[in-house]
Amino acid sequence: MTQNDGVVIVGGGIVGIATAYFLGKRGVRSTIIERDSVGSHASGFAYGGLSPTGETGASGQLTPGAQLTNEGMRIHRDLSKSLPEESGINTEYRERPSVALTFTDEEVRAAKERLATFQAPEGCQVEWLDAAAARSIEPRISEEIQGAVHTIGQADVEPYRLVLALAQVVETQGSLIRHGEVTGLRRESGRVTGVVLSDEVVDCETVVLAAGPWSDAVSDWIDTPIEILPLKGQILRLRAPGRPFECSLGWEGHYATTKPDGLLWTGTTEEHAGYDENTTTEARDAIMGTLLKMAPSLTEAQLVQQTACLRPVASDGELIMGQAPGVRGAYLATGTGRKGILLGPAVGRITADLITTGDPGLDIEAFSPARFAR
Ligand SMILES: Cc1cc2nc3c(=O)[nH]c(=O)nc-3n(C[C@H](O)[C@H](O)[C@H](O)COP(=O)(O)OP(=O)(O)OC[C@H]3O[C@@H](n4cnc5c(N)ncnc54)[C@H](O)[C@@H]3O)c2cc1C
Repeated sequence: MTQNDGVVIVGGGIVGIATAYFLGKRGVRSTIIERDSVGSHASGFAYGGLSPTGETGASGQLTPGAQLTNEGMRIHRDLSKSLPEESGINTEYRERPSVALTFTDEEVRAAKERLATFQAPEGCQVEWLDAAAARSIEPRISEEIQGAVHTIGQADVEPYRLVLALAQVVETQGSLIRHGEVTGLRRESGRVTGVVLSDEVVDCETVVLAAGPWSDAVSDWIDTPIEILPLKGQILRLRAPGRPFECSLGWEGHYATTKPDGLLWTGTTEEHAGYDENTTTEARDAIMGTLLKMAPSLTEAQLVQQTACLRPVASDGELIMGQAPGVRGAYLATGTGRKGILLGPAVGRITADLITTGDPGLDIEAFSPARFAR
């Protein structure tokens, strides 16, 4: 059973679905094969923060990573205008400021050092605030802070709704989303000719491997090691007293804000726990601890839901994007780590352009899967 223009996508997370979406915009239908359900892992349970705080290189030029975060933000801004109407789904995109707190001299020094060389991404303004100014934005911020980095122009989105909205459009574009577990590729003369499922082979000329944290499994399919590991993270959704938070609080990789569902979402953890996606009481207590450090008055907040999911992180921390070495027609698209909601649509756009025109539009050499080839 095929209903595509020769393209199969493995994985129905944000990366796979966004790739199908942009292929569809270029007139190419694909078949997406997902073994669970669309957005049922990190792409549906992430925090949904869109923080395009890229870095500049020694030359002052934007690094490939920063170019990509700018591209990610640009696409999200475009999608926020077009996608709700195209799909009929409100993705809950909101621009809102973030306040990144500092408590120690060392944190202040590191934050100010970063600000001194920082090139704000397009559409963002970043400034240092002293403690009083930060607390005037949100009085529930801890009195223990020394100051904060205030960023205007960041945004957030409800990741599950975003993936569903993209999937909705993908289906109207004529692509097919189907259930199945891919176990390998069929190849002839160094070229992919199909993807292997438990009881059938789906013919294709092009395959996009967007299997997220499970991408190491494709190593055997393409005879190249893909060094990727799952990094578990957990989030609490709380019913908190008082008015909603109008900004996103941050501290050392932790965050908290009130989402459109009225709940205060806060996280997170970074756990090396293999493929385990269960929540734990240790994580719950640790996340509550960091929330109360940021906003000590929230002791009465009540737990409504706790979620856990896995980030795809490459051994060198970089994205993995582009042609698989040695297998014509096979493309990798993963390694988005903690920024996959921000970057997923950009990775999808680039992968779709690679397939249809051969031109990614950005320098993606640093992300080539060939770097793992021995
Ligand atoms: C706690 C937490 C919070 C996060 N918060 C943010 C945030 O605020 N902002 C941000 O930008 N990013 C955030 N992220 C990161 C982001 O969620 C991920 O980087 C992103 O979702 C990865 O998308 P993906 O499509 O590559 O992977 P996934 O969402 O994991 O999708 C991969 C899919 O492939 C399927 N699959 C795998 N193998 C096969 C196979 N053999 N056959 C068929 N299907 C297969 C899986 O079932 C899965 O559905 C967060 C992540 C976590 C864990």
